[in-house]
Parts: sequence; structure tokens; C-alpha cells
Amino acid sequence: MYGCPPMSERERELAAGLARVEERIIRACGAAGRARDEVTLVVVTKTYPVEDVRLLAGLGIRHFAENRDQEAARKAAACADLSLNWHFVGQLQTNKARSVAGYADYVHSVDRVRLVGALSTAVTAVDRAPLRVLVQVALEKESGQGEGRGGVAPEGVPELARAVAEAPGLDLAGLMTVAPLTGAYAGRPDAAFARLREISSDLRAVHPAATMVSAGMSADLEEAIGAGATHVRVGSAVLGVRPALG
Ligand SMILES: *Cc1c(COP(=O)(O)O)cnc(C)c1O
Repeated sequence: MYGCPPMSERERELAAGLARVEERIIRACGAAGRARDEVTLVVVTKTYPVEDVRLLAGLGIRHFAENRDQEAARKAAACADLSLNWHFVGQLQTNKARSVAGYADYVHSVDRVRLVGALSTAVTAVDRAPLRVLVQVALEKESGQGEGRGGVAPEGVPELARAVAEAPGLDLAGLMTVAPLTGAYAGRPDAAFARLREISSDLRAVHPAATMVSAGMSADLEEAIGAGATHVRVGSAVLGVRPALG
């Protein structure tokens, strides 16, 4: 045997970041009495180069997320030789649905019926597996409060979920949220994710297969895992702090 080629400096950095995040996930699962394999790490590579995606793939990561269509499309195309899963997690305009349907396995950020229609049309126009769709919940919009950018108010989840479940080419996979920076849940990720867990439970009573709970980022993955997250979306804790506008 010849052994492995020496790691580059960047590969060592990424391996160290991954090891730290893995340790945090293991601890959080242990504290919550959950098995490690109940939580999938999705690495958010936005603003980082495709070389980082390839290095992370070499380190065993299979799930990647992006929040802008152009950047995501470019990276997915550049890694078409690897068998990776792409998650779209950003605000999505309906005119980008066709592009996203070309590479995404999951869209976490569906927040209106019009987007459901656009994604369904785009997916059914091509020969591909169903697109897994998560309804993005804006907890700060509870009971008409708050403005928030992406996401539907909790009371809008049932109607949107039904639209996804009925749309050809789409599979209703579950829910996504970002811990609110404003409103009653600001600075209270535990309370926010506990509320998401309730909404997920109500959703599963009607749609038993919609089991994905996408919650938790670099700053709050422990709280999310404690509240039942199945997918954590982690960027800076693995890749380093992003340059200003991410
Ligand atoms: C950027 C981003 C993340 C990752 O954030 P970090 O704080 O870097 O871990 C997760 N989810 C969404 C929707 C994002 O845009």
C-alpha cells in the first residue's frame, strides 16, 4: 500500500472543522437520548469555492446546501461526477424553479403556493426523481406578528403542505426553520425549536411521511437536535467565517 497523499492545508482545516462539528452533534444526540444516525449533517457551502465541496466530499460529506441558484447550479455541475445530494435553502423566485429542478434533490425554502406550482411544473417537465420539498416556517410570523423574510406563518403550514402533497413531481418531506432574530423567539432557540417540533407533530398527523425537520445552524445545532431536528445545516463552523455578505 502507498498510503494517502498528504493533506493540503485547506483539507486539514476542513477536516478539523468537521471533527469539531461531529463532536458537537454526537454530544447533542447523547444528551437528547438520540442515535447519531438520526441526524444528517448538511454542509452549507455558499460563498465558498467548489474546491471546498470536493475536499469535503473526499472527507465523506454527501449533503450540501446552497442559497443562491446561480452559485448552486455552477457547483452542482462542477461536481456532477460525485454522487452528492444538493439542498436549496435560500429564498427562491418562481422564475428560478426550472433551474433548481435541474440539480436540487431537496428544496427547504418553500413558502407559498405559487412556488409549489412552479416547482411542480419544472420537475414534471424533465425526467428526474421527485423533488423533496420542505415547507419553511417563519416562527416570527406566528399570529400575524413580525415580517420576516422567507417562510410561511405557522398557521399557513397545513394549506401549503397540502398543496405540496398534491403536486405532481413533489414529495412533501417535512419542515424547515431558521431560529428567529426578531419577535417572541428572538434569542430563544430552545423555545423556537420546541414550537417547530409541535408544528411538525401536527403535520405528521396528516402527512406521516413528512418526517424531515431541518433546523439548527452553526450557532444553535445543539438546541435543534435537542428538539428533534433530523437535518442540521452548518456552514461557518465547518468552513470558517464567511466574508461579510453571505
Ligand atoms: C447560511 C445558512 C446556514 C448556515 O449558517 P451558519 O451559521 O454558517 O452555520 C443555514 N441555513 C440557511 C438557510 C443559511 O442561509
